[in-house]
Amino acid sequence: MELLDGKLVSKQIKEEIAVTVNKMKERGEKVPHLAAVIVGNDGASLTYVGSKVKACKLVGFESTLVQLPSTTSEVELLRTVKELNENDEIDGFIVQLPLPKQIDTQKVLMAIDPDKDVDGFHPTNFGKMALDMSTFIPATPFGILELLERYKVETNGKHTVVIGRSHIVGRPMSILMGRKGFPGNSTVTLTHSHTKNITQIISQADIVISALGVPNFLKAEMVKDDAVIIDVGISRVPDESAKRGYRIVGDVDFENVSKKASYITPVPGGVGPMTIAMLMKNTLLAREKHMLARK
Ligand code: NAP
Repeated sequence: MELLDGKLVSKQIKEEIAVTVNKMKERGEKVPHLAAVIVGNDGASLTYVGSKVKACKLVGFESTLVQLPSTTSEVELLRTVKELNENDEIDGFIVQLPLPKQIDTQKVLMAIDPDKDVDGFHPTNFGKMALDMSTFIPATPFGILELLERYKVETNGKHTVVIGRSHIVGRPMSILMGRKGFPGNSTVTLTHSHTKNITQIISQADIVISALGVPNFLKAEMVKDDAVIIDVGISRVPDESAKRGYRIVGDVDFENVSKKASYITPVPGGVGPMTIAMLMKNTLLAREKHMLARK
Protein backbone atom coordinates (compact mmCIF):
# COMPACT_ATOMS: atom_id res chain seq x y z
CA MET A 1 0.00 0.00 0.00
CA GLU A 2 1.22 3.47 -0.85
CA LEU A 3 -0.11 6.56 0.88
CA LEU A 4 -1.33 9.37 -1.39
CA ASP A 5 0.19 12.05 0.79
CA GLY A 6 -1.84 15.21 0.23
CA LYS A 7 0.03 17.06 2.93
CA LEU A 8 3.35 16.52 1.19
CA VAL A 9 2.10 17.14 -2.36
CA SER A 10 0.16 20.26 -1.37
CA LYS A 11 3.33 21.63 0.21
CA GLN A 12 5.23 21.00 -3.04
CA ILE A 13 2.49 22.74 -5.05
CA LYS A 14 2.50 25.75 -2.75
CA GLU A 15 6.29 25.96 -3.03
CA GLU A 16 6.02 25.86 -6.84
CA ILE A 17 3.42 28.66 -6.74
CA ALA A 18 5.63 30.71 -4.38
CA VAL A 19 8.50 30.46 -6.90
CA THR A 20 6.20 31.75 -9.68
CA VAL A 21 4.96 34.60 -7.47
CA ASN A 22 8.54 35.60 -6.62
CA LYS A 23 9.31 35.81 -10.33
CA MET A 24 6.23 38.01 -10.83
CA LYS A 25 7.49 40.30 -8.08
CA GLU A 26 10.96 40.46 -9.63
CA ARG A 27 9.38 41.52 -12.93
CA GLY A 28 7.49 44.24 -11.04
CA GLU A 29 4.12 42.62 -11.76
CA LYS A 30 1.11 42.67 -9.48
CA VAL A 31 0.81 39.46 -7.42
CA PRO A 32 -2.43 37.40 -7.41
CA HIS A 33 -5.11 38.65 -5.03
CA LEU A 34 -7.77 36.31 -3.62
CA ALA A 35 -10.82 37.52 -1.70
CA ALA A 36 -13.00 35.31 0.47
CA VAL A 37 -16.50 36.20 1.59
CA ILE A 38 -17.91 34.55 4.68
CA VAL A 39 -21.43 35.08 5.99
CA GLY A 40 -22.05 34.20 9.64
CA ASN A 41 -19.97 32.47 12.31
CA ASP A 42 -20.07 28.76 11.43
CA GLY A 43 -17.02 27.24 13.13
CA ALA A 44 -15.99 24.89 10.31
CA SER A 45 -16.45 27.61 7.66
CA LEU A 46 -14.33 30.06 9.67
CA THR A 47 -11.59 27.41 9.96
CA TYR A 48 -11.66 26.72 6.20
CA VAL A 49 -11.54 30.42 5.29
CA GLY A 50 -8.75 30.97 7.83
CA SER A 51 -6.70 28.20 6.17
CA LYS A 52 -7.25 29.77 2.76
CA VAL A 53 -6.06 33.19 3.94
CA LYS A 54 -3.04 31.55 5.61
CA ALA A 55 -2.19 29.70 2.38
CA CYS A 56 -2.31 33.01 0.46
CA LYS A 57 0.30 34.49 2.81
CA LEU A 58 2.48 31.41 2.43
CA VAL A 59 2.61 31.57 -1.37
CA GLY A 60 2.95 35.38 -1.49
CA PHE A 61 -0.59 36.26 -2.68
CA GLU A 62 -2.55 39.21 -1.39
CA SER A 63 -5.79 38.30 0.33
CA THR A 64 -8.91 40.08 1.50
CA LEU A 65 -11.40 38.62 3.95
CA VAL A 66 -14.94 40.01 3.78
CA GLN A 67 -16.84 39.00 6.92
CA LEU A 68 -20.59 39.61 6.90
CA PRO A 69 -23.09 38.98 9.73
CA SER A 70 -25.39 35.93 9.63
CA THR A 71 -28.36 38.31 9.16
CA THR A 72 -27.02 39.53 5.79
CA SER A 73 -29.76 39.60 3.14
CA GLU A 74 -29.47 38.15 -0.34
CA VAL A 75 -29.53 41.67 -1.82
CA GLU A 76 -26.65 42.76 0.43
CA LEU A 77 -24.55 39.73 -0.46
CA LEU A 78 -25.26 40.22 -4.18
CA ARG A 79 -24.05 43.82 -3.78
CA THR A 80 -20.79 42.57 -2.25
CA VAL A 81 -20.36 40.09 -5.12
CA LYS A 82 -20.91 42.90 -7.64
CA GLU A 83 -18.29 45.06 -5.90
CA LEU A 84 -15.76 42.22 -6.01
CA ASN A 85 -16.59 41.53 -9.68
CA GLU A 86 -15.87 45.19 -10.48
CA ASN A 87 -12.79 45.57 -8.28
CA ASP A 88 -9.79 45.40 -10.61
CA GLU A 89 -7.43 44.66 -7.71
CA ILE A 90 -9.13 41.29 -7.02
CA ASP A 91 -8.20 38.47 -9.39
CA GLY A 92 -10.47 35.82 -7.93
CA PHE A 93 -12.85 35.32 -5.05
CA ILE A 94 -14.86 32.68 -3.28
CA VAL A 95 -18.08 32.80 -1.31
CA GLN A 96 -17.71 30.27 1.49
CA LEU A 97 -20.57 27.75 1.62
CA PRO A 98 -22.96 26.95 3.21
CA LEU A 99 -24.84 30.26 3.21
CA PRO A 100 -27.59 31.14 5.72
CA LYS A 101 -31.14 30.00 4.86
CA GLN A 102 -32.39 33.42 3.72
CA ILE A 103 -29.91 33.42 0.81
CA ASP A 104 -30.36 31.50 -2.45
CA THR A 105 -26.91 29.93 -2.95
CA GLN A 106 -27.39 29.28 -6.66
CA LYS A 107 -28.34 32.92 -7.27
CA VAL A 108 -25.16 34.10 -5.54
CA LEU A 109 -22.89 31.65 -7.38
CA MET A 110 -24.50 32.72 -10.68
CA ALA A 111 -23.69 36.37 -9.90
CA ILE A 112 -19.93 35.76 -9.67
CA ASP A 113 -17.95 36.84 -12.74
CA PRO A 114 -16.90 33.49 -14.31
CA ASP A 115 -13.39 34.92 -14.85
CA LYS A 116 -13.06 35.43 -11.08
CA ASP A 117 -14.83 32.21 -10.08
CA VAL A 118 -11.79 30.38 -8.69
CA ASP A 119 -14.04 27.78 -7.02
CA GLY A 120 -15.26 26.77 -10.51
CA PHE A 121 -18.90 26.63 -9.37
CA HIS A 122 -20.38 29.00 -12.00
CA PRO A 123 -22.42 27.16 -14.70
CA THR A 124 -20.18 28.68 -17.40
CA ASN A 125 -17.09 27.14 -15.82
CA PHE A 126 -18.84 23.87 -15.01
CA GLY A 127 -19.97 23.65 -18.65
CA LYS A 128 -16.47 24.40 -19.93
CA MET A 129 -15.09 21.68 -17.66
CA ALA A 130 -17.62 19.18 -19.04
CA LEU A 131 -16.60 20.17 -22.58
CA ASP A 132 -12.85 19.71 -21.89
CA MET A 133 -12.21 23.45 -22.26
CA SER A 134 -9.60 25.28 -20.19
CA THR A 135 -11.27 26.66 -17.07
CA PHE A 136 -11.29 26.70 -13.27
CA ILE A 137 -11.84 23.13 -12.06
CA PRO A 138 -13.49 22.91 -8.60
CA ALA A 139 -10.63 22.69 -6.12
CA THR A 140 -11.42 19.33 -4.48
CA PRO A 141 -11.77 17.31 -7.71
CA PHE A 142 -8.79 19.24 -9.13
CA GLY A 143 -6.75 18.20 -6.09
CA ILE A 144 -7.70 14.54 -6.54
CA LEU A 145 -6.64 14.67 -10.21
CA GLU A 146 -3.33 16.22 -9.17
CA LEU A 147 -2.69 13.46 -6.59
CA LEU A 148 -3.46 10.73 -9.15
CA GLU A 149 -1.17 12.44 -11.66
CA ARG A 150 1.78 13.02 -9.34
CA TYR A 151 1.68 9.44 -8.02
CA LYS A 152 1.18 8.15 -11.60
CA VAL A 153 -1.88 6.12 -10.56
CA GLU A 154 -3.20 4.30 -13.64
CA THR A 155 -6.76 5.42 -14.47
CA ASN A 156 -6.93 4.35 -18.12
CA GLY A 157 -9.65 1.72 -18.67
CA LYS A 158 -10.25 1.40 -14.92
CA HIS A 159 -13.67 1.26 -13.31
CA THR A 160 -14.06 4.31 -11.06
CA VAL A 161 -16.94 4.38 -8.59
CA VAL A 162 -17.76 7.82 -7.19
CA ILE A 163 -19.92 7.86 -4.05
CA GLY A 164 -21.91 11.09 -3.67
CA ARG A 165 -23.19 13.41 -6.40
CA SER A 166 -22.74 16.89 -4.89
CA HIS A 167 -22.14 19.77 -7.29
CA ILE A 168 -18.77 20.51 -5.69
CA VAL A 169 -17.23 17.03 -5.46
CA GLY A 170 -19.03 13.90 -6.71
CA ARG A 171 -20.64 15.25 -9.89
CA PRO A 172 -17.56 17.06 -11.27
CA MET A 173 -15.34 14.15 -10.22
CA SER A 174 -17.45 11.72 -12.25
CA ILE A 175 -17.13 13.95 -15.33
CA LEU A 176 -13.38 14.43 -14.92
CA MET A 177 -12.57 10.74 -14.46
CA GLY A 178 -14.44 9.95 -17.68
CA ARG A 179 -12.64 12.61 -19.74
CA LYS A 180 -10.17 11.70 -22.45
CA GLY A 181 -6.57 11.70 -21.24
CA PHE A 182 -4.74 11.21 -17.97
CA PRO A 183 -6.03 11.21 -15.30
CA GLY A 184 -9.25 10.04 -16.95
CA ASN A 185 -10.26 7.46 -19.55
CA SER A 186 -12.05 5.68 -16.72
CA THR A 187 -15.41 3.95 -16.93
CA VAL A 188 -17.34 5.81 -14.27
CA THR A 189 -20.28 4.84 -12.06
CA LEU A 190 -21.78 7.70 -10.05
CA THR A 191 -23.61 6.47 -6.96
CA HIS A 192 -25.81 8.22 -4.37
CA SER A 193 -28.34 7.52 -1.64
CA HIS A 194 -30.83 6.02 -4.14
CA THR A 195 -28.34 3.58 -5.68
CA LYS A 196 -29.42 -0.04 -5.41
CA ASN A 197 -26.79 -2.71 -4.69
CA ILE A 198 -24.18 -0.08 -3.87
CA THR A 199 -22.00 -2.61 -2.01
CA GLN A 200 -21.86 -4.84 -5.08
CA ILE A 201 -21.02 -1.87 -7.34
CA ILE A 202 -18.23 -0.71 -5.02
CA SER A 203 -16.79 -4.23 -4.89
CA GLN A 204 -16.22 -4.02 -8.67
CA ALA A 205 -14.32 -0.73 -8.50
CA ASP A 206 -10.64 -0.34 -9.35
CA ILE A 207 -10.83 3.21 -7.98
CA VAL A 208 -13.25 4.37 -5.27
CA ILE A 209 -13.78 8.09 -4.68
CA SER A 210 -15.87 8.44 -1.55
CA ALA A 211 -17.59 11.80 -0.94
CA LEU A 212 -20.67 11.20 1.15
CA GLY A 213 -19.72 12.40 4.62
CA VAL A 214 -20.61 9.25 6.57
CA PRO A 215 -17.82 8.23 8.99
CA ASN A 216 -16.43 4.73 8.38
CA PHE A 217 -18.94 4.02 5.58
CA LEU A 218 -16.40 2.20 3.41
CA LYS A 219 -15.33 -1.08 5.00
CA ALA A 220 -12.59 -3.51 3.96
CA GLU A 221 -15.04 -6.22 2.91
CA MET A 222 -16.62 -3.78 0.40
CA VAL A 223 -13.48 -3.14 -1.67
CA LYS A 224 -11.50 -5.44 -3.90
CA ASP A 225 -7.83 -6.22 -3.43
CA ASP A 226 -5.47 -3.49 -4.72
CA ALA A 227 -8.23 -0.91 -5.18
CA VAL A 228 -7.26 2.78 -5.17
CA ILE A 229 -9.14 4.57 -2.38
CA ILE A 230 -9.73 8.33 -2.32
CA ASP A 231 -11.42 9.51 0.86
CA VAL A 232 -12.99 12.96 0.52
CA GLY A 233 -15.15 12.80 3.63
CA ILE A 234 -14.56 15.13 6.55
CA SER A 235 -16.68 14.48 9.62
CA ARG A 236 -16.25 15.56 13.22
CA VAL A 237 -16.80 12.75 15.73
CA PRO A 238 -16.84 13.36 19.49
CA ASP A 239 -13.56 12.43 21.19
CA GLU A 240 -13.06 13.34 24.83
CA SER A 241 -9.33 12.62 24.63
CA ALA A 242 -8.89 15.32 21.95
CA LYS A 243 -8.20 18.92 22.96
CA ARG A 244 -11.17 20.25 20.96
CA GLY A 245 -13.49 17.45 22.10
CA TYR A 246 -13.72 15.97 18.59
CA ARG A 247 -11.56 14.44 15.91
CA ILE A 248 -11.74 14.50 12.13
CA VAL A 249 -12.51 11.26 10.30
CA GLY A 250 -13.17 10.37 6.67
CA ASP A 251 -15.67 8.04 5.00
CA VAL A 252 -13.23 5.15 5.02
CA ASP A 253 -12.33 2.65 7.73
CA PHE A 254 -8.68 3.49 7.10
CA GLU A 255 -7.12 0.94 9.42
CA ASN A 256 -8.66 -2.06 7.66
CA VAL A 257 -9.17 -0.73 4.11
CA SER A 258 -5.53 0.37 3.88
CA LYS A 259 -4.46 -3.29 4.27
CA LYS A 260 -6.23 -4.14 0.98
CA ALA A 261 -5.67 -0.96 -1.03
CA SER A 262 -2.86 -0.28 -3.51
CA TYR A 263 -3.09 3.48 -2.86
CA ILE A 264 -5.11 5.34 -0.23
CA THR A 265 -5.54 8.92 1.00
CA PRO A 266 -5.46 9.46 4.77
CA VAL A 267 -7.85 11.77 6.65
CA PRO A 268 -6.60 14.23 7.70
CA GLY A 269 -3.66 14.83 5.37
CA GLY A 270 -5.10 13.56 2.07
CA VAL A 271 -7.63 15.38 -0.07
CA GLY A 272 -8.20 18.26 2.40
CA PRO A 273 -4.81 20.02 2.03
CA MET A 274 -4.91 19.44 -1.75
CA THR A 275 -8.16 21.41 -1.97
CA ILE A 276 -6.51 24.54 -0.56
CA ALA A 277 -3.41 24.16 -2.75
CA MET A 278 -5.60 23.90 -5.87
CA LEU A 279 -7.52 27.00 -4.88
CA MET A 280 -4.16 28.77 -4.89
CA LYS A 281 -3.43 27.29 -8.33
CA ASN A 282 -6.79 28.55 -9.65
CA THR A 283 -6.07 32.03 -8.24
CA LEU A 284 -2.72 32.09 -10.03
CA LEU A 285 -4.54 31.06 -13.22
CA ALA A 286 -7.05 33.90 -12.68
CA ARG A 287 -4.18 36.40 -12.36
CA GLU A 288 -2.57 35.10 -15.55
CA LYS A 289 -5.93 35.30 -17.39
CA HIS A 290 -6.40 38.90 -16.28
CA MET A 291 -2.91 39.88 -17.44
CA LEU A 292 -3.58 38.31 -20.86
CA ALA A 293 -6.97 40.04 -21.09
CA ARG A 294 -5.30 43.44 -20.59
CA LYS A 295 -2.63 42.90 -23.26
P1 NAP B 1 -23.06 16.46 0.22
O1 NAP B 1 -23.65 17.64 -0.45
O2 NAP B 1 -23.03 16.40 1.71
O3 NAP B 1 -23.82 15.19 -0.37
C1 NAP B 1 -23.53 13.89 0.04
C2 NAP B 1 -23.76 12.94 -1.11
O4 NAP B 1 -23.59 11.62 -0.60
C3 NAP B 1 -25.15 13.02 -1.75
O5 NAP B 1 -25.05 12.90 -3.15
C4 NAP B 1 -25.88 11.83 -1.14
O6 NAP B 1 -26.86 11.28 -2.00
C5 NAP B 1 -24.74 10.85 -0.96
N1 NAP B 1 -25.01 9.91 0.11
C6 NAP B 1 -25.37 10.15 1.39
N2 NAP B 1 -25.53 9.00 2.07
C7 NAP B 1 -25.28 8.00 1.20
C8 NAP B 1 -25.29 6.59 1.30
N3 NAP B 1 -25.57 5.96 2.46
N4 NAP B 1 -24.96 5.88 0.23
C9 NAP B 1 -24.66 6.48 -0.95
N5 NAP B 1 -24.64 7.81 -1.11
C10 NAP B 1 -24.94 8.58 -0.04
O7 NAP B 1 -21.62 16.16 -0.35
P2 NAP B 1 -20.27 17.01 -0.33
O8 NAP B 1 -20.54 18.46 -0.07
O9 NAP B 1 -19.58 16.57 -1.56
O10 NAP B 1 -19.52 16.45 0.96
C11 NAP B 1 -19.23 15.09 1.14
C12 NAP B 1 -18.17 14.92 2.20
O11 NAP B 1 -16.95 15.45 1.70
C13 NAP B 1 -18.44 15.67 3.49
O12 NAP B 1 -17.89 14.93 4.57
C14 NAP B 1 -17.66 16.96 3.33
O13 NAP B 1 -17.27 17.53 4.57
C15 NAP B 1 -16.46 16.45 2.56
N6 NAP B 1 -15.77 17.46 1.74
C16 NAP B 1 -14.41 17.46 1.83
C17 NAP B 1 -13.69 18.34 1.06
C18 NAP B 1 -12.19 18.31 1.16
O14 NAP B 1 -11.55 19.28 0.85
N7 NAP B 1 -11.60 17.19 1.56
C19 NAP B 1 -14.34 19.25 0.22
C20 NAP B 1 -15.73 19.19 0.13
C21 NAP B 1 -16.45 18.28 0.90
P3 NAP B 1 -28.17 12.11 -2.47
O15 NAP B 1 -27.69 13.04 -3.54
O16 NAP B 1 -29.08 11.06 -3.00
O17 NAP B 1 -28.69 12.82 -1.26
